[in-house]
Amino acid sequence: MEITNLAENSEDFTGNVWLLKGGDEHVLIDVGTGDSWENIRELESVDKVVFTHSHYDHVDNLPKVVDKFDPEVHAFEPDNLPMDVEKLEENDSIDLAGSNFEVYHTPGHKDDSVCLYSPEEKILFTGDLLFPEGGFGRTDLEEGNRDQLIESIEKVVGLEVSEMYCGHDEAAVENVEKQIQKSLEEAKKREEKY
Ligand SMILES: [Zn+2]
Repeated sequence: MEITNLAENSEDFTGNVWLLKGGDEHVLIDVGTGDSWENIRELESVDKVVFTHSHYDHVDNLPKVVDKFDPEVHAFEPDNLPMDVEKLEENDSIDLAGSNFEVYHTPGHKDDSVCLYSPEEKILFTGDLLFPEGGFGRTDLEEGNRDQLIESIEKVVGLEVSEMYCGHDEAAVENVEKQIQKSLEEAKKREEKY
């Protein structure tokens, strides 16, 4: 599987748009906002979209993506999106670009947050739950809850992960499990972050 970030060169503030290529499929994890669309529109096809959560900086380009590519769209809370999408459930497994991913419901940053994990590839998509180098999502927004966030990080902290793709920042590919452990420790300090 090949993974690239279509929002890498965005000048607008946007969440990452991870493109997964494999098994004859193009899958987007989040679709971003603003000028990240300029890279998405160049694709030959988009077969599936999966949302990590419904904050605008991750979902805003959805109408354009659906209009141009008509993909299958999956989200934990379909009511939070402007069109009909398929509901993801905790413990679902979903085939993305030729690999199987497990769905973990991970609230704390936003109620409809999920992480996607492939045991086979040892890949974790975290949305805004975790960031590299001990980072974690803000909990001062509506639906934010630090205790829930800590519980959610605890759900993924034991996983075997060699590559982590977050909702912002670059991919983490070295000592990833240690980075996740550090995020848990930092979150548990319960320091005001913003
Ligand atoms: Zn967010």
